[in-house]
Amino acid sequence: MWNWRSDASEMVELQILARNVCSPRVLEAMRSVPRHLFVPEAYAADAYIDRPLPIGSCQTISQPYMVAKMTELLQAEEGMSVLEIGTGSGYQTAILAYLKLRVYSIERIGYLAKDAAERLKALNFDAKVLHGDGREGYPDFAPYDRIIVTAAAERIEPTWEEQLASGGRMILPLNVATGGQRLLARNKIPSEGTWRFEDKWYDYCRFVPIVEGAS
Ligand code: SAH
Repeated sequence: MWNWRSDASEMVELQILARNVCSPRVLEAMRSVPRHLFVPEAYAADAYIDRPLPIGSCQTISQPYMVAKMTELLQAEEGMSVLEIGTGSGYQTAILAYLKLRVYSIERIGYLAKDAAERLKALNFDAKVLHGDGREGYPDFAPYDRIIVTAAAERIEPTWEEQLASGGRMILPLNVATGGQRLLARNKIPSEGTWRFEDKWYDYCRFVPIVEGAS
């Protein structure tokens, strides 16, 4: 029988550690979450290769390295609340749940949200999957200690900035003027009764775009 755990360990060694994502808990999560159960059956054998894969409706499950990198950049600690925009397969959601974060994840495509919620539940990952337009964030459970956007944004939505806790941090792929997208980490720093933002740029990347409205 196929031992997916050895594929997952090899993925961590060759794709993730090799590119300098070293946080032990993130590596443990990447070794422990069965990625092959988050892709369509036809792609299960390819689940641990160094690529994003199609999950239907022209959407993709992100490349393993990108999931690990964004999770490390999130710098989240156990028990923190996280808002994820773009549930997709629910794989990133499962990684966050594995790290014992309180996860709220929004997906605009109804059947993807439903499938992801069922899959997470069946695998015992504790996360709330919401169906809606993530550009509006999700005010009901705000503020969030962390926000992670897993679809490419043209701009940073004011709702995300508002719903981020003071002292919080968001990670997102943002379209940049030179073309393509780049990972941005934005910290919300308390300052004289209000707040200011501090930005730091990371890898260039390629995500499917954020699309307006829920369907
Ligand atoms: N984190 C996912 C990656 C999914 S790809 C995974 O690990 O599988 C990005 C997802 O963002 C797609 O499923 C897409 O439908 C969703 N998306 C795009 N625009 C959105 C919006 N406005 N609100 C919520 N989700 C959105």
